[in-house]
Amino acid sequence: MAILEEPIRQVKTLKNFIGGEWVQSKGKIVDVVNPATCQTIAKVPVSTKGEINAAVEAAQEIFPDWRRTTPVARARCLFRLKELLEEHFEELSRIQTQEHGKTIDESRGETRRGIENVEVACGIPTLMMGYNSEDIASGIDEYVVRQPLGVFGIIGPFNFPFMIPLWSAPYAVATGNCVIIKPSSEVPLSQTRLAELADEAGFPPGVWNVVHGGRTVVNGMLDHPGIQGITFVGSTPTAKLIYRGCGETGKRVIAQGGAKNFMAIMPDCNVERTIPALMTSFFGNTGQRCLSGANLLIVGEDDKFYNTFMDAVTAASKGVIIGYGLDESVQIGPVRDKEKKEKIIGYIESGIQQGAKLRLDGRKNIKIVGDYPGTCFLGPTIFENVAPDMKIGSEEIFGPVMSVMRAKNLDEAINMCNDNPFGNGHSIFTSSGKAAREFQYQVTSGNVGINIGIVAPMAFFPFSGTKDSFFGILHTQGQEAVRFFTESKVVIQRWF
Ligand code: NAD
Repeated sequence: MAILEEPIRQVKTLKNFIGGEWVQSKGKIVDVVNPATCQTIAKVPVSTKGEINAAVEAAQEIFPDWRRTTPVARARCLFRLKELLEEHFEELSRIQTQEHGKTIDESRGETRRGIENVEVACGIPTLMMGYNSEDIASGIDEYVVRQPLGVFGIIGPFNFPFMIPLWSAPYAVATGNCVIIKPSSEVPLSQTRLAELADEAGFPPGVWNVVHGGRTVVNGMLDHPGIQGITFVGSTPTAKLIYRGCGETGKRVIAQGGAKNFMAIMPDCNVERTIPALMTSFFGNTGQRCLSGANLLIVGEDDKFYNTFMDAVTAASKGVIIGYGLDESVQIGPVRDKEKKEKIIGYIESGIQQGAKLRLDGRKNIKIVGDYPGTCFLGPTIFENVAPDMKIGSEEIFGPVMSVMRAKNLDEAINMCNDNPFGNGHSIFTSSGKAAREFQYQVTSGNVGINIGIVAPMAFFPFSGTKDSFFGILHTQGQEAVRFFTESKVVIQRWF
């Protein structure tokens, strides 16, 4: 099948978007490389402390005006943004495939979920309503209003370059705050395009800012007293660092970290429908999802079921088509870069060394369509006889690797899920309502799937998480994001 046209055809040095202006950074410049073609598609700055400070100042300057803009008028900017995102839907999706490597269908799904968050935030006039109580004492009423706080930093990971900042930004600006988005510098293009569209949508200069870079920008956000809070999505070590930093400087924080998700298979599951769900869960987005399946947990001591099920899983995994995501026949794209590929290979080697049985080796026999010089491709890998304390059974691999374990019964399966330090999204596949209920009741992850492999909450639900997958109180998306980005103020009024 033909390759879809690439929207990025010229290598440009990206600028920061500060106070409504596109500003060249004075920082070092690094390449952004398409992991399928190995071509440099852009250059991105590692911005300086002075540049993040300038963005905070620009945001602080506009904040008093923006918070006085009525919620209805603020929502109108979001409605215009939503229209522009629809108009540029395919372009935005292809940019994600070019910068990240995921398939075009995965990118389209990501664009859709990003837009859905803008749609939900359009309801801000009702979402941020307060409440009141008449006659708390004779002739005295009391009410609560929700007010914005000021400037927020939004820090994104590499794996969902377009969508994840949209778990926060629409709610932040809808409630009357200003934002500074720091995309992952590995994938900075879709956020740059999004900022252009936000500008076109009519947000006043300084409300929506983008500063590219790495630690200096993040530390600049943590240090700056003008930043009221940070939403962060990324790995657990960085999430812990952000959580601690915000605690020390008195900022609000949502820090969503890494994952190690279990998919529990009961012998009464619908095998025909479970296998495709597992393929998407373990190998979709090349395993680079915080909701990817990581450990496949077959429950029960029925060896016949185990063998039949594993034969079906292996056959389906062998058939996965790998290649450049702009080829619509491709089912999984490359890993984001060579360093990540080497890290995943390191995990595969550790699995072999620690005694797991390699059933399918994604380093070999991979079915790549097309002829690409890229070396970031990896096929599905399956390990059996994995113990929960092996590295491949306990650590986040973030690649297309399935670690298969067995549990004697449902109780043991639930304990294995809960003994894991992460708590993002565990799933059960079963036709038993009782087993499903028991699993969802007892499992200590923030998201639970019942006959669903990727439990990605809709925009009007919180993107939950627990334990080492989440630090904070409120979550991104929907009503919880509205609460995070606002402070409640209590007013008591005596009527003379
Ligand atoms: P990462 O932690 O390496 O980077 C995330 C962001 O933090 C980037 O913008 C990066 O520039 C910045 N950063 C990295 N190291 C830093 C440091 N030492 N100091 C300051 N800033 C730093 O994460 P990643 O590799 O980009 O993303 C993948 C991770 O994100 C995985 O662990 C995945 O599970 C997780 N993730 C979690 C969720 C969730 O909702 N829980 C969603 C998506 C991804």
